[in-house]
Amino acid sequence: MLIVQKYGGTSVGNVERIEAVAKRVIESKQEGHDLVVVVSAMSGETNKLLDFASHFSTTPNVREVDMLLSSGERVTSALLAIALEAQGYSAVSMSGRRAGIVTDNVHTKARIEHIDTQEMKNALAEGKIIVVAGFQGVTHDGEVSTLGRGGSDLSAVAIAGALEADLCEIFTDVDGVYTTDPRIEPKAKKLDKISYDEMLELASLGAKVLQSRSVEMAKKLNVNLVTRSSFNKNEGTLITKEDNIMEQPLVSGIALDKNQARVTLRGVTDKPGIAAEIFKKIG
Ligand code: ADP
Ligand code: ASP
Ligand code: MG
Repeated sequence: MLIVQKYGGTSVGNVERIEAVAKRVIESKQEGHDLVVVVSAMSGETNKLLDFASHFSTTPNVREVDMLLSSGERVTSALLAIALEAQGYSAVSMSGRRAGIVTDNVHTKARIEHIDTQEMKNALAEGKIIVVAGFQGVTHDGEVSTLGRGGSDLSAVAIAGALEADLCEIFTDVDGVYTTDPRIEPKAKKLDKISYDEMLELASLGAKVLQSRSVEMAKKLNVNLVTRSSFNKNEGTLITKEDNIMEQPLVSGIALDKNQARVTLRGVTDKPGIAAEIFKKIG
C-alpha cells in the first residue's frame, strides 16, 4: 500500500517525540508499505515565530510571514529524515517546493492549485521514505506560501489525493474524532466513523482535530482518511462517504469555538433603521 501519514505539532514536539514517530514510520515501512510522511512544526513553534514578527510590526508583510512560518515545518521534516537515516532507513526530506506543491499567491492562506508529483514518485521508486514539510507550497512566482493555520492536514490530504494513496492517516494527540473536544468534555465518545459532510461541519465550526479545508479536499478527491493517536495504537476514526456508514446517528457531535463573543442589547426600539445604525457603529 501507499500510505500518507501526517504527524501534528504535539506528535513531533521534541526530539524524543520525533524519535517515537521515526519508530512508528519504520513499523509501517517494515509492513511493506510505501510511505510519504507529512510533518507539522513542533508544537508552539508557529505561534512563537508569529510572536517574533509581532515584536516588529502588527501588520508584517505577508510574504515575509510565509518565509518565517514555513521554516518551522522544514526543521521537523529534516530532523525526522535524519532520525530515519540513523536507524538505517533511506529517507529524504522535501520542502513544499520540492514536493511540487503549487499554490495561488495568496500568502498566509494559499490554496493548492496542483501538485507536480514527479520528485515524490522518483524518490518512492528508489524505496525512500519521503518526509514532506507540511503547511507550505510555492506560488507560480516561486515564492514560498503557507496554507493557513492547521494546514499540514491539507498538505497530507492533497498529497494523498495526487499520489492516489491507499490511505491517509492523520496522527495527532487524541485517539480520533470524538463527539466533542475530549479535552473539554471527558464524557465525549470516540466515533468509529463519520461522514465527510459531518466532519466538515464539525471542523468548520471549530473542531480543530482536522482542518476544515482538508476535509473538503478529502471529500473531493475521495481520500480514505483516518485520524488516530501517535501516542498509542488504538483504532482511530474513519472519515468516509455517507453510504459507508450504516447506522447514521442524528447528531454526530458538538463543536466549540472559543473565539466568539455575544453581545446582547436589550430594549432596542423595533423600528426600521435602528439595527442598521447599531451595526454601522459596531462595524
Ligand atoms: P495537531 O497538532 O496534531 O494537528 P490539533 O491540536 O490541531 O492537533 O488537533 C487536535 C486537538 O483537537 C485535540 O487535542 C482536541 O483537543 C481538539 N479537538 C477539538 N474537537 C475535537 C473532536 N471533536 N474530537 C477530537 N479532538 C478534538
Ligand atoms: N504549524 C502550522 C500551525 O501551527 C500548521 C500545522 O501545524 O498544521 O498552524
Ligand atoms: Mg492540527
